[in-house]
Amino acid sequence: MAILPIVEVPDPRLRQISQPVEGVDDDLRRLIDDMFETMYAAPGIGLAAIQVGVPKRVLVIDLQEPEEEGGDPVRDPRVFVNPEIVAESDNEVPYNEGCLSVPDQYAEVDRPDRIRARWLDRDGVAHDEEIDGLLAVCLQHEMDHLNGILFIDHLSRLKREMLLKKLTKQRREQGKRAA
Ligand SMILES: [Zn+2]
Repeated sequence: MAILPIVEVPDPRLRQISQPVEGVDDDLRRLIDDMFETMYAAPGIGLAAIQVGVPKRVLVIDLQEPEEEGGDPVRDPRVFVNPEIVAESDNEVPYNEGCLSVPDQYAEVDRPDRIRARWLDRDGVAHDEEIDGLLAVCLQHEMDHLNGILFIDHLSRLKREMLLKKLTKQRREQGKRAA
């Protein structure tokens, strides 16, 4: 397994539309393993293939939620190949989202609190399930990546520009420290 470099804004690859996967094979599983390793190392709870520069409709998610509050995170890796949302609730809830491609920046985004999704897992087995809570938020965020959409696109223009300015400033300061 390998940790892959994460593509960050304003890299135009993040705006690409990812292509459907034609078959779940060992090459794809190798990519999935690398994506998990990259996500855990970052650390993050979700990663789309395009965030490591691969324009395929593949996502990995692990909410790493502890079984009890304050407990150690429990790994619960989930793979979504060719995911599709087939239904969503009218009720939207805000969640303070971040993204490994927009490092250290967070903002509240409203999304449907419950969705029904279809996807294939790492063995190519089809799933059709209702999803809610943080997994629903995360899946919708990651699915946006497959269509070239970032969470900052859901913000007002003013908020988005402020957030990107903060990121530029932060990068400049990190560059100074490194120099
Ligand atoms: Zn993201």
